[in-house]
Amino acid sequence: MKDLLDVHMHTIASGHAYSTLREMVTAGRQHNLELIGISDHGPLMPGSCGEFYFCNFKVIRPEKAGIEILMGAELNITDFSGSLDLREPFLSRIDYAIASLHEPCIENGSIEQNTAAILGAMRNPKVKIIGHPDNGNYPVDYEAVVKAAKEHHVLLEVNSSSYHPDSNRRNSRSNAHIMLGLCKQYGVSVIMDSDAHIDLDVGNHTRARQVIAEADFPEKLVVNTDIAKFKDFLK
Ligand SMILES: [Zn+2]
Ligand SMILES: [Zn+2]
Repeated sequence: MKDLLDVHMHTIASGHAYSTLREMVTAGRQHNLELIGISDHGPLMPGSCGEFYFCNFKVIRPEKAGIEILMGAELNITDFSGSLDLREPFLSRIDYAIASLHEPCIENGSIEQNTAAILGAMRNPKVKIIGHPDNGNYPVDYEAVVKAAKEHHVLLEVNSSSYHPDSNRRNSRSNAHIMLGLCKQYGVSVIMDSDAHIDLDVGNHTRARQVIAEADFPEKLVVNTDIAKFKDFLK
């Protein structure tokens, strides 16, 4: 399976990641990726950058990088209606948002609450990806999530870091299988991401690929295989 892009990764601006933007870009080039997306954590994550970080991406000049670069954010869902931690005018300055549930920013809710949080976030037009939706610390109704992803044209993530033995996200692999089965049934696309917090992990989708292979998931529903397929979700 072709794997041309990785759009979930963190630089030192996130506060608990260890490489610079330049190092992440170099790593993306070395892995022969055609496109990378930087997605530093939203302001509510302890130690992450403030909202002004997200308003000056024009200085980056990606045309000089030798690889396509998008500048996004992994925003925190902050309540069960799906609010996010980046306000206008900052939100409109970023290329895309990943919306995720994170322990420091929202309590572990019931299935109904967590599902409502994700569905609410999907209604925000800047949200193009739901980050690690298979995190069992936030159980959800996968049928509702998959159907809403189709309705709102949002990608569901197969997050390689979730399947690491040291990950604190519970039941991610078994939840991914449930989610992928439903995505197959309803024709919903997914994206493999590294969630790299250091340059060594840029483009590292090893575990995500394993999960996708185990699920016998159709390649045509994996947007990493085709830049145009991914960009169709950015419109
Ligand atoms: Zn996350
Ligand atoms: Zn992340």
